[in-house]
Amino acid sequence: MPLLPLIVSVVSRNDRVALRQNGGSCQFCGYESAGWQEHRFGRTESDHEARACALCHLTQHLERPEINREAVLIWLPQMSQPALNRVSWRLYSILAEHGVGFDRRRADGVRPDEAAGAVALRLELKGLAGVAERELGTSSPAELSEALFSMSPDTYAQRGKRLAGVRLLGLGQFYEDGRDIFPEFIGGGRAC
Ligand SMILES: [Zn+2]
Repeated sequence: MPLLPLIVSVVSRNDRVALRQNGGSCQFCGYESAGWQEHRFGRTESDHEARACALCHLTQHLERPEINREAVLIWLPQMSQPALNRVSWRLYSILAEHGVGFDRRRADGVRPDEAAGAVALRLELKGLAGVAERELGTSSPAELSEALFSMSPDTYAQRGKRLAGVRLLGLGQFYEDGRDIFPEFIGGGRAC
């Protein structure tokens, strides 16, 4: 099945959106072990309901209250957003498997080499936030969210072109009712 397009987005703050476990792969990046379904409460069932992993969900909901803890904007025109999300899932899976903290700031002393490589790559990706600051003027998803809300509908519809090099890098945190539930997404083992 072809994947759905994935562009940094916001929805009205009046919409309540949540992820619920529902089996199947992500319809945006194809990540297989997540199986989360996005539910918009108070709307018809057919309205934009899609199966999204947590990282693709974040990409489409920059309006989330904790978004600046959950993600950062980076400049990475060479890699599509779905590909970045797949790579990120792999990195976090490796770190989780080896018990290495997601926010580790140095790869020195991390073993095995696979885990050290994951730390190093994550830091490289995070470092591209500096390029986003130069190219876009910010690396803050919350700030971009405000800008997206202030755009005219026509400009908003063109955001994919205007933000062509901008990607959202998940930081390995996902808050629900003030609690970080990201570790529970690794391997898709969370009950709802
Ligand atoms: Zn996904």
